[in-house]
Amino acid sequence: MSGCNDNGGGGRKEAGALRVLRAANPAGTRVRVGHVEVGGPGFVVMAGPCAVEGQEQTQAAAQAVAHAGAHILRGGAYKPRTSPYAFQGMGEPGLHILADCGRRHGLPLVSEVMEVSQIPLMVDSVDILQVGARNMQNFSLLRALAEVGKPVLLKRGLSATVQEWLLAAEYLVAGGNPHVILCERGIRTFETATRNTLDLSAVAYVKRESHLPVVVDPSHATGDRGLVLPMALAAVAAGADGLLVEVHPTPERALCDGAQALTPEMFSDLMRKLLPVLAAVGRSLYASGVREPGRVTG
Ligand code: PEP
Ligand code: MN
Repeated sequence: MSGCNDNGGGGRKEAGALRVLRAANPAGTRVRVGHVEVGGPGFVVMAGPCAVEGQEQTQAAAQAVAHAGAHILRGGAYKPRTSPYAFQGMGEPGLHILADCGRRHGLPLVSEVMEVSQIPLMVDSVDILQVGARNMQNFSLLRALAEVGKPVLLKRGLSATVQEWLLAAEYLVAGGNPHVILCERGIRTFETATRNTLDLSAVAYVKRESHLPVVVDPSHATGDRGLVLPMALAAVAAGADGLLVEVHPTPERALCDGAQALTPEMFSDLMRKLLPVLAAVGRSLYASGVREPGRVTG
């Protein structure tokens, strides 16, 4: 990758020697998450509510996304909110609800870890530890996650360059955790029509320059449920390995990010419409063949 060792980037390490670059693993990294594999030929869909709000809401979301064919359940128990007065997430009880709903539907889990102190609890209850956009350059969190054997989903920072994003991933990989999934979730630009600007050229670029799997989050990228489907399809065409999509049983009542949440019907429609686009680029949905309700993954 050009420019990786200048301007405070890669320090003294030669750019070509970074562990996250394609040359370090030309075959590509595949990240195993329970019975699912991210980064192989199969396209993986992670879906669920922005935040765990309670048993009933999470259960309804889990049932809807499992029924539509999602592979991994998402849901935040610790929420990084812009306003300190906004709903901050349920915390530990939320993790237990998420784990219960995942088990019932045989879905592995992805959930955000905001602080080093949350790692021991999260490691025991979720399959992928999500580092949110606001924490992409929280280097003490990255160093601690490097020592954890679990997969990490590293979101691109709100205003992070691709170089900064890959160097954040380098903290994880060089620190001993190769199970890294990158997530493009839109960046802040001068444009205000959408919540963020989905940088699909970064997806194609990172797929070429790095061996790490890349998923796209069209929900935070647009902030608008009506734009999630077209951007999800575009992400497939751009070469993404999967999606992270927000789905809520009753978006108008959501405590967080309701405007971008798909209804269960919209999510089923999205899953159906992915198929011809996947086929056009020579891919298909990941098919494990087995989903095992009741099994604790990890
Ligand atoms: C989320 O996934 O709910 C989230 C907070 O995302 P981001 O860190 O991309 O804003
Ligand atoms: Mn959200």
